[in-house]
Amino acid sequence: MKLNALYTNVRFPALFWPDSAANAFAIENGVLTWVGNASQVPTAQLASFAHHDAGGAWVTPGLVDCHTHLVYAGHRAHEFASRLSGVSYEEIARAGGGIVSTVRATREASETELFDRSAPRLEALLSEGVCAIEIKSGYGLDLDTERKQLRIARKLARAYDVRVCATFLGAHVVPPEFSGRAQEYINEVCEWILPALYDEGLVDAVDVFCERIGFTLAQTQCVFDKAHTLGLPVKLHAEQLSNMEGAALASTYGAMSCDHLEHLSSAGIAAMKAAGTVAVLLPGAFYALRETVLPPVPALREANIPMAVATDHNPGTSPCLSALLTMNMACTLFRLTVDEAVLGLTRHAAHALRLESGYGAITVGTPANLVMWKVHDLAELACHFGGVPAHVTIRNGVLR
Ligand SMILES: [Zn+2]
Repeated sequence: MKLNALYTNVRFPALFWPDSAANAFAIENGVLTWVGNASQVPTAQLASFAHHDAGGAWVTPGLVDCHTHLVYAGHRAHEFASRLSGVSYEEIARAGGGIVSTVRATREASETELFDRSAPRLEALLSEGVCAIEIKSGYGLDLDTERKQLRIARKLARAYDVRVCATFLGAHVVPPEFSGRAQEYINEVCEWILPALYDEGLVDAVDVFCERIGFTLAQTQCVFDKAHTLGLPVKLHAEQLSNMEGAALASTYGAMSCDHLEHLSSAGIAAMKAAGTVAVLLPGAFYALRETVLPPVPALREANIPMAVATDHNPGTSPCLSALLTMNMACTLFRLTVDEAVLGLTRHAAHALRLESGYGAITVGTPANLVMWKVHDLAELACHFGGVPAHVTIRNGVLR
C-alpha cells in the first residue's frame, strides 16, 4: 500500500539535503512531498498524518546497484578452491570453466527455475535498502537464453516492485560453439540477436566484455555501432585485466559508464571526462581475484569523474550479495572516502544507469525511494562489514 506518513526525528546527510534544520519528511500516496523542520509542517493534511518518530535515524536515498549479473544457474564454488591453489582466472576460463560453465547451466535451466534461483539474490540486495538495480544478460550467448535472462529481469522488476535496468551483454564471452570464430559470433549478435531482443522491448542498454579473454576493440565497436543504430545507450567492461583502451572507445559512443577500470590509462580518463561517462568501481571482483593493480582513483577524483560502486554480483568473480560490504571494500581496498562510497551506491550509481529523478537522491515530488538507517554516524554504513545495521526501506512509495 502506498504510504501516507509523516516521519519526524530524522537526520539528513548534507550530501543529500543541505538544510541542516530539516528533521522531518512527509510521504503522500507514496510520493515524497515535503522535507523540512517538524515545527513547520506546511499543511493541515500533512499534520493530520500519523507521526512516526524515527529515533534520530539517518535518511539516505535508496541504494542503487548499477552492475550485476544476477540471473544465472549453476555453481562456481569449486573455482574458488582452484584459484586458491594458484590457478588464474584466465587459466580457468581457457579450460572451459569460468563464464562458459555458467552459460551451460543457464541454457539448461527452465525460465521458472532460473527465476526461482535469481529471486533470493535480488531479495538479499533489497533487504539492505537497494531500490534500483541493473541486471545483465550474458550467460546465454544464444537468442533463446539471452531472451530468457532478460525476461526474468523484467519479471523480477514486476514481482518485487523494484526499478530494474536490463542490459544486453550478449558479447560477454565467445560461446563454445563459436570457438575460434569470435567475429562470426559478433556478426550474429549484431545482425540477429540484439535486434530481435530490442524489438521485444527487453533491452535498456548494451554492454560488452572488452578483454583478452572477451572481445577485441574492433568487435566491441561492431556491437556499439549496432546499439547506436537502435538508439540504445552503451557501457563497457573495460580495462579489468589489461589495458585495451576500451574506455576511450566507449567514450566516443557517449557511454553511460565504463566498469572495472583497474588498468585504465590517462587517455581513457581524458576520454571519459569529455564524454561524461561514469566510472563504475567493482571492488568485489578485485577482492575475489586478489588483484593487485588498483583502479586509478586519485586520477579519477582529480578529473572529477563521478565514481559509482557496485557489487558486480556474479557466480565466479564476485559472488557478493551485499551493497554495504561493497561500500566497505570501496573504502578499504580502493581508498574511497565514506562520502564517495555512499555517493557511489546512490547518486553516481543512479547517474551510471541514467535513472529518472528521485533515484539516488532525495527529491521532493518523486516516488519515495529512501532508507532510514538506525546508526549514530553515517560512516557506520561503510565501516562495518559482515552485518547490516537496523534500517527501514521505503521502496517505490511502499514501506518494506
Ligand atoms: Zn560484470
